[in-house]
Amino acid sequence: MSETDVLVVGAGAAGIAAARALLKAGLRCQVLEARSRPGGRAATDTATLGAPFDLGATWLHAANRNPLRLLAQSLGMATFDHGSARESVCFDAGRRAGPEDMAAYDATWETFHTRLGALVPLPGESAAALAARSGFGGGRWDATVMHWEGPVICAAPLAEMDARDYLDTLLEAPDLLLPEGTGTLLARLAAELPVSYGAVVERLDWSGPRVVAEGRFGRLEAASTIVTVPTAVLAAGAIRFTPELPPETAQAIHDLPLGLLTKIGLRARGADRLDLAPFAGIERRVEREEEAAMTAIAWPFGHDHLMGFVGGPAAWDLAKAGPAATVAFAFEELSKNFGARAMAALRREGALVSDWGRDPFSRGAYSHARPGRAAARGILAAPLAEGRLCFAGEACHPSLAATLGGAWETGEAAAAHAARALRDRERDKERQPLTPALAWRYAAPATDAPPPTGTTDEG
Ligand SMILES: Cc1cc2nc3c(=O)[nH]c(=O)nc-3n(C[C@H](O)[C@H](O)[C@H](O)COP(=O)(O)OP(=O)(O)OC[C@H]3O[C@@H](n4cnc5c(N)ncnc54)[C@H](O)[C@@H]3O)c2cc1C
Repeated sequence: MSETDVLVVGAGAAGIAAARALLKAGLRCQVLEARSRPGGRAATDTATLGAPFDLGATWLHAANRNPLRLLAQSLGMATFDHGSARESVCFDAGRRAGPEDMAAYDATWETFHTRLGALVPLPGESAAALAARSGFGGGRWDATVMHWEGPVICAAPLAEMDARDYLDTLLEAPDLLLPEGTGTLLARLAAELPVSYGAVVERLDWSGPRVVAEGRFGRLEAASTIVTVPTAVLAAGAIRFTPELPPETAQAIHDLPLGLLTKIGLRARGADRLDLAPFAGIERRVEREEEAAMTAIAWPFGHDHLMGFVGGPAAWDLAKAGPAATVAFAFEELSKNFGARAMAALRREGALVSDWGRDPFSRGAYSHARPGRAAARGILAAPLAEGRLCFAGEACHPSLAATLGGAWETGEAAAAHAARALRDRERDKERQPLTPALAWRYAAPATDAPPPTGTTDEG
């Protein structure tokens, strides 16, 4: 690892974006990544199910404002608009919901968003409280919509997230899928970067004019450092900062916890496809938002696997119970909809279960703001020490939080801060320093006191 201008901690979307932007600006940078691969919370498994399976990030959401869409296309990677093939198959107490029920379910989604969008959140209000104030709840499909909006989409219950932040970070279509996987995309974007793998940063000293990073890899210093590790990892104290972070930054980290979403890949045993078309969404009606339930997408791209999702408190419980219990839960859930046919159609062995909750380098899936703490994202994104220390990552984005595109943009923004800070310092160095006598002349022209002794270049 050679002499460098900027250290980037983490080679996920934010770190990759930051490093690419720094190199483009003509600066030297070194990325320190704890794991043995790039991509962070975007990782594609290509071996287990015989087809690419994203263990983490899956869609390029809000694709029309997502910088990764163009980057994927520039690399020649195919993208697929999931909305063009999405069909919901919803079960209610073991029966497939008919057209009337599905119309009622769709109308409930519409009502949820119209009602919540029409209200201005109160200070400190949670998304659940906002929903209640809008009169939502109690209808036949209401808990199911809230289960989706909270535990499945946001990876946490609506009661645990700030209403303002919830509304600000809603994501619109199109949602693109990459047949090769988002992890593959990020690995390609990181391919030429100066990344040191297995480099776990344990300490960051930003007390002096240069920031020093330390870990088992040794000691490295640079003019600036960009930290992109997940907020849950920072909150756990995995990196010791000297001096300690300012209280408002430390508070912001605490106020942006990660929820959990677990993904489960199950392969078909034979030819039975459960009467589901490729990309069919499997859902079931729930009675309570926090009910443990699994949603799934059938046979993506015609592959012979299902992609299951369990989010929120149920995902944390299953993470504690382990992968075998998670697979057993997935089968229980599928049996509620398909009966014994699920057991015959899908293989238990060789299943894939993500484990972001217990992974020490993520400690969860993605962030939400605690009630009353919507400002935390902006606070965390603000550069410290004139840009010597910057934070980036999905949790820092005001509207694309919890996404790859958001993480990417915050990485680029942090790189711009660090580059500006470096330029400013270079400019300051080039300026002729004021001698004591000259400084006195500019600073105190009205005083009668004699100037300090010393010579100036002016003579
Ligand atoms: C199951 C799941 C599904 C998701 N679905 C989607 C989706 O469909 N679409 C979407 O856009 N987003 C999705 N996300 C969220 C998306 O993955 C994240 O928002 C994004 O990957 C975050 O990027 P990041 O750079 O901020 O953080 P990360 O990707 O977490 O990168 C941080 C990096 O820092 C490294 N690190 C941690 N500690 C240290 C240390 N001490 N020293 C050195 N390195 C360290 C980590 O190993 C990691 O590589 C999903 C996430 C999960 C888990």
